[in-house]
Amino acid sequence: MAEQQGSRRLQELDAAHHLHPFTDSQALHQKGTRVIERGEGVYLWDTDGHRILDGMAGLWCVNLGYGREELIEAADRQLRRLPYYNLFFQTTHPSATELAATLATLLPGDMQHLFFTGSGSECNDTVVRMVRHYWASQGQPERKVIISRHNAYHGSTLAGAALGGMKPMHAQGGLPLPDIVHIDQPYHFGEGQGRDPGEFGLERARQLEQKILELGPERVAAFIGEPIQGAGGVIIPPASYWPEIRRICKEYDILLVVDEVICGFGRTGHWFASEYYGLEPDLLCMAKGITSGYMPLGAVAVGRRVAEGLIGGGEFFHGFTYSGHPVACAVALANIEVMRRENIVGRVHDDIGPYLQRAWASLGDHPLVGETRGLGLVAALELVADQRDLRRFDSTVGAGLICREHCFEQGLVMRAVGDTMIISPPLVISHAEVDELITKARRALDLTHQTLIHN
Ligand SMILES: *Cc1c(COP(=O)(O)O)cnc(C)c1O
Repeated sequence: MAEQQGSRRLQELDAAHHLHPFTDSQALHQKGTRVIERGEGVYLWDTDGHRILDGMAGLWCVNLGYGREELIEAADRQLRRLPYYNLFFQTTHPSATELAATLATLLPGDMQHLFFTGSGSECNDTVVRMVRHYWASQGQPERKVIISRHNAYHGSTLAGAALGGMKPMHAQGGLPLPDIVHIDQPYHFGEGQGRDPGEFGLERARQLEQKILELGPERVAAFIGEPIQGAGGVIIPPASYWPEIRRICKEYDILLVVDEVICGFGRTGHWFASEYYGLEPDLLCMAKGITSGYMPLGAVAVGRRVAEGLIGGGEFFHGFTYSGHPVACAVALANIEVMRRENIVGRVHDDIGPYLQRAWASLGDHPLVGETRGLGLVAALELVADQRDLRRFDSTVGAGLICREHCFEQGLVMRAVGDTMIISPPLVISHAEVDELITKARRALDLTHQTLIHN
């Protein structure tokens, strides 16, 4: 009773004063917000006392789960010793420097330099500034165009949203910005049904080549992509896709930028998905899992070629007050230490990743499911109206949202991207917790089926 009054009060205050990200405010306040107040391991509790299995690790970030003492203590120690200092004017602090050096040991290829930001979006803004500054430093200032993909997600600042390929975001912001263009995504289920996946992957990759030739290679600065698209619906490209992208970037001397904000830090069973795909990017964005979400932090890793250009290119007029915030860096160092000590990446690769993927694939027999896919600890399934011909629901049905609601009622956070249901649980999830996730997901699919039949 007292609990419910507490929730009501917060919901009212929230409706009166708080504008939420990516939210239709009126619709939200008609339904009422859920107030999440506590987390432990893979579980969350709301102010009404419900326990919820967090199948999304917050927003793809709480990789070590909630309540990790090592991370809390690292923040506490750093707050007491040096809560803030900047990195602008001939100064550094130990946690930023140590973190840069530590990340350099984990990164693929020849990435030995790091630029810190406060978020994934800021990483992508930094990328735009960096690649253009780099090419200018090489005497090719006309190389400005960055090629991205429809339905990519690169954040919500102006540059992040412009690089991203989310049409509703572009429509509200006068986007994309000049000299940012998009090609089609390698989404086989959504856009290549009935096609051979290998051929489809090659065709989508070769759109990059066509676009470069159309624009003139001398105008193109970089290609950017998420190794696996996250917010777009966990889109895992056919195996033919990335090798072809890599070939094209090499052939036309285009910088390759990978946005590993979701894929980095063990999500795919590798420290970075670039290892899995055999990529040697020139720039690599990371955020989210870098601190397990305990503090906001992002970093752009820079390969040798671009680093040399930047180092020799005079002052780079770019940075944030909170670039390399000492508390965030201290938490990131503790996060990496725990990941190493507990062999989290190896466990995702050899044990819990395959375990989850097997269990997830078993949902494929459900009459609502047209496809299951996944890698490591990220996975998706496609809701379909007819399993035989893979016909999708009319978008007005809102099947994904109905399923998401049923998941929540079952005590499971699963996200809906249209009618694609996605999960990205904490990397520390146990076998028993995976079993619970799958049981709840299947029950939610059953309930969704019933709801859709009765409508
Ligand atoms: C979340 C995300 C971002 C944006 O990160 P923020 O910290 O929300 O700014 C950028 N790229 C990818 C791939 C993401 O998933």
